[in-house]
Amino acid sequence: MASIQTTPGGMPVLILKDGAKETKGREAQKNNLTAAKLIAEIVKTSLGPRGMDKMLVDNLGDVTITNDGATILKEIDVQHPAAKMMVEVAKSVDNEVGDGTTSSVVFAGALLERAEELLSKDVHPSVIVDGYNAAAEHALKLLEKIAVQVEVSDKDMLLKIARTSMDSKLVSDDSPLLGAIVVDATKQVAEKADRGLKVDLDDIKVEKKAGGSMHDTKLIKGIVLDKEIVHAGMPKRIENAKIAIINSALEIEKTEMSAEIRISDPQQMQMFLEEENRMLRSMVDKIKGSGANVVLCQKGIDDIAQHYLAKAGVLAVRRVKESDMTKMSRATGARIVNNLDDLTAKDLGAANLVEERKVETDKWVFVEGCKNPKSVTILVRGGSQRVVDEADRSLHDALMVMKDVLEKPAIVAGGGAPEAYVANELRQWASSQEGRAQLAVQKFADALDAIPLNLAENAGMDPIDTMTELRAKQSKGAKWTGVDARNTVVADMYKQNVLEPLAVKQQIIKSATEVASMILRIDDVIASGKSRMPAGPPGGMGGMGGMGGMGME
Ligand code: ADP
Ligand code: MG
Repeated sequence: MASIQTTPGGMPVLILKDGAKETKGREAQKNNLTAAKLIAEIVKTSLGPRGMDKMLVDNLGDVTITNDGATILKEIDVQHPAAKMMVEVAKSVDNEVGDGTTSSVVFAGALLERAEELLSKDVHPSVIVDGYNAAAEHALKLLEKIAVQVEVSDKDMLLKIARTSMDSKLVSDDSPLLGAIVVDATKQVAEKADRGLKVDLDDIKVEKKAGGSMHDTKLIKGIVLDKEIVHAGMPKRIENAKIAIINSALEIEKTEMSAEIRISDPQQMQMFLEEENRMLRSMVDKIKGSGANVVLCQKGIDDIAQHYLAKAGVLAVRRVKESDMTKMSRATGARIVNNLDDLTAKDLGAANLVEERKVETDKWVFVEGCKNPKSVTILVRGGSQRVVDEADRSLHDALMVMKDVLEKPAIVAGGGAPEAYVANELRQWASSQEGRAQLAVQKFADALDAIPLNLAENAGMDPIDTMTELRAKQSKGAKWTGVDARNTVVADMYKQNVLEPLAVKQQIIKSATEVASMILRIDDVIASGKSRMPAGPPGGMGGMGGMGGMGME
């Protein structure tokens, strides 16, 4: 369909290329809302501790089993533009705060569903968007008001928060152990900043290996390298290690150009080799001279240099990743040395023990027992690859949550309590709003109820009874009343130790409102005629043909 418009003078102007498709107004809006709500529909059964897991199969047949909203959406191949926007919300929440991805998509879906009700009553989208934004702003303030400040030194409290984020995961049975590891790891790497603490999660290395059991998962005060010691003659274990971290190659540099050396006499050959030998030896002498007994090198180590290092009783690892070099430096206190000539005793780092150990079929080098390391490793073990993968994802959420609270030490209870509280308050506040915006605020409040409602539904509780009881208790001022999905009762979630960072709850509201507004504002979808994607199955969500399936024609 080429779109032809005419100028006042009657000249035809071709605006869209041949083959481009355009849907306008109601039709475009309906398609977008349908696609976006579908995404929310997919993830909502996985919300909360009683949520179901998803088995995702990619086109190579690889299987991922997860309950993590961001992961589910990352793995499914979404093509409708509005559906993609919903996937983006999960991503942005994941990046900002790390937890609450499912909630943000479920809430955004609910906002759109409620908006549809208003649209059908001819409320203009911009009125809805304004009402939603006003409601969101007020909701953020309400959350701030009820949030409880925590002491970052209160380990017990931190553990409860870490455990809550893992409560809704496959690994929840192991949350006492994993939670404690998360708390210790983040506290270890946290650094003082202008206001409070600053945590850089790059300082926490997560190494995983299928095998053993989850109980073997541990925090290592140092760094684990998935590399072997470079030479069989070197010691496999060094106590009181003095570690040199070297950025340059322990090899004779090859010239850039291809050079040719003509040797006419065996004597010359001998001299040539001896010179090479001498240079490598002097490199090793410099290392020995600094007092180092462990060398970690980002580049290669020549065979002859390896031999001399082994003879000197030095343990060496080569081709260490750049990211590991930085972590190693932060863990051991060593300075990364670019030029061997600069290496002195002052540049060396320290660790109680450096040892090569067998982890299943691999040999890994453990650098551990560092004094006050600013970088640590979590070694994740578990029955199978799928289990360690999901543990890794759950640890990510929990680590992010810890970072959130350490940097902004304020929490709220979970289990849908804060959502129910804010919904209740917003319903009363709505009357202060003018005209039709009031309706939008009411709908925003109703949409918030989707969180406790889905928690209850996923736990097999009666949705109507639960919501009635929840609202009744909330309106009596019991602000932490929520859905205890484990015991399938309505309860005080603060007392149940289900605690979450304020930052997560606020981000869910911000991101979901943002995407819902964005989708509601679209009244025109123009798809270029050229299809970049192969056409999807008829009626499916594949390619632009998929938009036809969503009722585009
Ligand atoms: P998200 O990706 O949004 O974090 P989750 O599946 O992790 O989704 O579920 C989080 C929700 O589950 C939050 O609202 C949280 O308060 C709630 N929750 C966690 N533990 C419990 C519990 N024991 N009882 C009830 N709700 C819980
Ligand atoms: Mg979660």
